[in-house]
Amino acid sequence: MDNDILKVLYSESDIQDACQRLGKEIKSHYGDKVPVVIGVLKGAIFFMTDVIRDTDMYMELDFMDVSSYHGTTQSSGVVELVTDISTDISGRDVLIMEDIVDTGRTLKFLIDTLKGRGAASIKVCTLLDKPSGRVVEASSDFIGFEVPNEFVVGYGLDYEEKYRNLPYIGVLKPEIYANN
Ligand code: 5GP
Ligand code: MG
Ligand code: MG
Repeated sequence: MDNDILKVLYSESDIQDACQRLGKEIKSHYGDKVPVVIGVLKGAIFFMTDVIRDTDMYMELDFMDVSSYHGTTQSSGVVELVTDISTDISGRDVLIMEDIVDTGRTLKFLIDTLKGRGAASIKVCTLLDKPSGRVVEASSDFIGFEVPNEFVVGYGLDYEEKYRNLPYIGVLKPEIYANN
C-alpha cells in the first residue's frame, strides 16, 4: 500500500498529537455533561476511537452511516442515510465525529437530521476540514487539520474502499486513479 502513496500529509505522530489536543478541547467544552458521541462510518472510526480513548469523561457512543460519494472521488451531491443510530437523542448533547468536511453536504444532512430529532446541542469534531471545497454552509467546532483541495486517503479515509487502514494520511499517485 505504501507504494501507492505520492506524499504523506500527516504522519502517525502528527495525527496522535491532534487527537490529544481535540480530546482536551472536547472535555473542557462539555465539563460534566454526558454527550452522545456519534461516529460517522466508516471514515471516522480510527479518529473517533483515538480522540475519545483518553478523555476521562462520561459519554455514550453511537454510529451512523451516510453515503454521498458512491466509490469515486467526486461527490454526487446526494446524501443518503444508510445506517441510523439507536440512541434517543432528544434533549441530548450530540457530538458528531467526522473524517473530513468537503462540500459540507454530508455534515449539513447530519446536522439537519439530528436537529429534527430534538438534540439539545450539536457540535462537530472533524479530523480534516477542506474549506475550499465548501458548497453548502457547514462548520465544525473541533478541527484536526485544514487540508488543501486534494483527495486524501488513510487513517479511515478510502479510495474505492481501500487505504482506510493506512496509519497516516496521504495523497495517492495519479496512476492509481488512471488505472481505474
Ligand atoms: P462532503 O459531503 O463534505 O462533500 O464530503 C463528506 C464525505 O466525502 C467525507 O465524509 C468523505 O467520506 C468523503 N470525502 C471528501 N473529501 C475526501 C477526500 O479528500 N478523501 C476521501 N477519501 N474522502 C473524501
Ligand atoms: Mg465522512
Ligand atoms: Mg469514501
